[in-house]
Amino acid sequence: MSGLACPLCGHGEDFRELEASEPPYRVLACPVCDYGFVHPLPSRERLARAYGEAYYEPWRNEDVAARRRMWAWRLRRVREACPSGRLLEVGAGDGDFLELAAGAGFETAATEFSDAAAANLRRRVPGADIRQGEIEEMDWPAGTFDVVVAWHSLEHMRRPFAALAAMHAALRPGGVLMIAVPNRHNHLMRLFYRLARGRAYPLFSLHTKEIHLSHFTPASLRRAVEQAGFAVRAIEPDRAMVEPAKRVIDALARLGYRLSGHLGTEAMLLTAHRSEDDKDGKA
Ligand SMILES: [Zn+2]
Repeated sequence: MSGLACPLCGHGEDFRELEASEPPYRVLACPVCDYGFVHPLPSRERLARAYGEAYYEPWRNEDVAARRRMWAWRLRRVREACPSGRLLEVGAGDGDFLELAAGAGFETAATEFSDAAAANLRRRVPGADIRQGEIEEMDWPAGTFDVVVAWHSLEHMRRPFAALAAMHAALRPGGVLMIAVPNRHNHLMRLFYRLARGRAYPLFSLHTKEIHLSHFTPASLRRAVEQAGFAVRAIEPDRAMVEPAKRVIDALARLGYRLSGHLGTEAMLLTAHRSEDDKDGKA
């Protein structure tokens, strides 16, 4: 692996293999910052093919009530941090959250990598400013937004750290960032998965819904967000599970978090802000 450098901290050797995925892809972890990443990265074209219309089907038809509660909970969390204003959702997917945020009075904008999903978003949330592509390709003026959210989209991006820098620039000084991603320290879920399926919990495949190019731990997520110039307020359990069996396992992991402080849930929610006196776009 000569020439390979950790995308987060730049360290260049002794990467640990977390998973031998579909060839040629592997998931590696950096021995310094513990960031997990797919190597080599799939091309943009290959990823675009994976996010067609069919990708979004389960989001429309399965576990609808639990999904609605999850989005309502996330909106409450956003409003606690930022009650109103201009909201940007990075990777808005099917638009469940964007529609809810627009209904709650936020002035909404969104990015979406998928052509199919972007077209659907324009129909579903007509007043929103929807832009197709990656956040770092957009030209919103610096400091446009009061709050930026990314619900389980950062781990899908080819350039997550460029995206975080773009989120920082898009937020006004004092603005709020909320990011939810899977947690690689989901030890309980991995244990149950192995018991139920007889094999290790999968990290990466181009042929599932979970096309995760980044595998964050609480520490590596914090490092990534701080490196982009944000001040982190909290990293806590995210409520991402909607399937009944997974919800039970994740409730146990949340209980463990309350008792021990160890964040072992399936996903985590980070809240950060851009500092008030950070006027020039770089902390
Ligand atoms: Zn590293």
